[in-house]
Amino acid sequence: MFGNALSNSSQTLVSLLIVEDEPRYLESTRLLLAQHVHSIDAALTVKDAFALLTTKHYDLALLDLRLPDGNGHEIMAYIRTHLPDCRIIVASGDSEIDSAIQSLRLGATDYLRKPYEPEDLINTVRNAVRKLELERENARMTHQIEQSEQWHRLLVNTSPDVIYTLDADARFSYLNDSIERTLGYMPGELIGRHYTTIVASDQLESALYRFNERRTGERATRNLELMLRRKDDLLSSLTERTSDQRVVVELSSMGMYRPTSLGMGEFLGSYGVARDISARKQAEATITFQAYHDLLTGLPNRALFKDRLGQAMVYAKRHGQTMATLFLDMDHFKVVNDTLGHLVGDGLLQALSQRLRECLREGDTLSRIGGDEFMLLLPHIRTRDNAAYIAQKILLSLKQPFNIEGHELYVGLSIGIAIYPEDGDSIETLIKHADIAMYHAKDHGRNDFKFFTQDLHKSFTGRLAIENEMRHALERREFEVFYQPQVAVQSQRVRGMEALIRWNHPARGLVSPSEFIPIAEESGLITPISEWVMGAACRQARLWRDADMPPITMAINLSARQIEHPQFVDKFIQCLHKHMPDGNGIEIEITESTLMRDMDGAVSKLRKLADMGIEISIDDFGTGYSSLSYLKKLPINTIKIDRSFIHDLTGHMNNGSTIVAGIAAMAKGLKLKVVAEGVETQEQLDYLQTLGCDTYQGFFFSRAVNADAATEILGRTVN
Ligand code: C2E
Ligand code: MG
Ligand code: MG
Repeated sequence: MFGNALSNSSQTLVSLLIVEDEPRYLESTRLLLAQHVHSIDAALTVKDAFALLTTKHYDLALLDLRLPDGNGHEIMAYIRTHLPDCRIIVASGDSEIDSAIQSLRLGATDYLRKPYEPEDLINTVRNAVRKLELERENARMTHQIEQSEQWHRLLVNTSPDVIYTLDADARFSYLNDSIERTLGYMPGELIGRHYTTIVASDQLESALYRFNERRTGERATRNLELMLRRKDDLLSSLTERTSDQRVVVELSSMGMYRPTSLGMGEFLGSYGVARDISARKQAEATITFQAYHDLLTGLPNRALFKDRLGQAMVYAKRHGQTMATLFLDMDHFKVVNDTLGHLVGDGLLQALSQRLRECLREGDTLSRIGGDEFMLLLPHIRTRDNAAYIAQKILLSLKQPFNIEGHELYVGLSIGIAIYPEDGDSIETLIKHADIAMYHAKDHGRNDFKFFTQDLHKSFTGRLAIENEMRHALERREFEVFYQPQVAVQSQRVRGMEALIRWNHPARGLVSPSEFIPIAEESGLITPISEWVMGAACRQARLWRDADMPPITMAINLSARQIEHPQFVDKFIQCLHKHMPDGNGIEIEITESTLMRDMDGAVSKLRKLADMGIEISIDDFGTGYSSLSYLKKLPINTIKIDRSFIHDLTGHMNNGSTIVAGIAAMAKGLKLKVVAEGVETQEQLDYLQTLGCDTYQGFFFSRAVNADAATEILGRTVN
């Protein structure tokens, strides 16, 4: 056993200095200890000892006190001050206890009285060596612990998550540095404060027993979503809370207990990790928003609209309520987009959405469901009138122009209204019926609203039938041209005739062009039909001329589709050659929107016709697009003021009269003829006279009539 201990100790790297003036002792001691330490030096005097101590390091010194040139205490004093790590064993022949005490006071770790047993010497040295080893091990471990703590601190503080502990009273006892990044607090500002300091006020209930979690293991809190508030939120006014001052975290927390031999002891507090997931939440919110909203205007999209409509319908059904679905379509939006560019188009859509929003109440849903189409859900209406009121309010709000990128733009909307439950009790039907009603509003002059009716439904489903029947109408000679006189305001002389197509439908009777022209345009049938009208009108003009009727202008309506046709000019010229080779006395009527569809294409084609003596007239003037740039590009002869303005004409200065006066003045400046359309009363006629408008057309003088009746009117004028 003894030998084992010796062999163990001999591994230790301990250097020993023996100071002993008795050579005999010295030698035996050296022999005894050789195995227990790494190296042994010996000194016979104090002087020798100092010489060694100043040049070399020793872990252990075995000192005799009585030395020929001094006292061992001198050496001890030196060692204490200069080699504090060196342990000292005093081996002295002094039997006095005082000497021993003195030695121990001076820092000796052990005391051997001479003469000693070899075993005592070995044991004493061995103890000293063991202590040294323990101390070294201790120091190494302390160093390791310090390093590991630094390492953990670094890990905890560089964690993106907030890591905290609360004491048993739910006050912060530790917070890592992430708290500053996440909520703007320095850890020290929160230590000692209650956790509710950082919880958003409406989240206190959810945070309770979770932030200060007492449970452990499976039942502890895992990934609980919670809203915290930033430091600046506390400072800012309590009323103005913005969402970016709130931070969404995912909290995991558990109770901490003092460990005991019996398991968990006293509750110490809670430990938790809060991960900032605001950015993820924001991204999720954006994705959800994008899925259900139109990005340009921020309005709900079709999917969300349908969803809301469905919900509102369930509610209305349960409570026996009425609600309205409105379909809104911007008039001539394509023109704006095509001529002024998408930037202006986009700006207009945004500005329009904003203006529409201002007409609505909370609870109404406005949605953009496509290019220039909007839908509106009014869930709380009592009567149809309420819906009509909102539609009127919207149309009224559009009397003010929009200013987009320096362009002053007037916008018209055609609005169709379908009422729940009478016009449909499913999402799809309500939307479809509102859409049909919207088309009806468009057909009837635009910028207006119309309610859905079952008749409309029939006429809509009749669209396909009409298209089919129209294909045969030409061969069956069901079309006929009627003529409406254009009359001089002063002299009441007929100056012109407008050719207006009629369809003598075998079953439906006389069908109005506004019912079938749009269908003909959509289906492309407009081309053969127009060619036929052109032929018929030119032939009639020739007949009147040959019959020596007073010279008049024959006005023929052209639609955009027709002008866009590549052979349009050739066909027109062919037709002229056949009936009116000089082109004199033929005028074409085009609308502003026709021009806007493809300004450059239209301009070059119309110029060719103008060169042949054809006159050009702008129909329905004032309802279309406000840019008048085309007036400079085209050789225009006549402007026809739309009948909606004439309809508004009274002796008072109202919107209608201001516009008519303005148009008349402008036309005079540009040396253009002005025709007022839709004159129905003497009063309107009188008023036109005061405005200096020279020609009119309307029921007041005559409706559009067939060729025979028109011939008679012309003949009367001669007489
Ligand atoms: P428009 O060219 O503006 O023709 C004038 C319309 O106003 C005609 O309707 C006419 O009957 C109506 N009208 C005339 N005076 C009055 C009045 O005093 N009061 C009222 N309330 N209305 C009046 P119509 O004949 O039903 O034609 C409607 C539209 O169909 C025309 O509008 C024109 O755009 C189009 N159209 C007619 N014939 C043709 C054609 O041969 N080709 C093309 N492309 N379009 C045509
Ligand atoms: Mg016309
Ligand atoms: Mg017109």
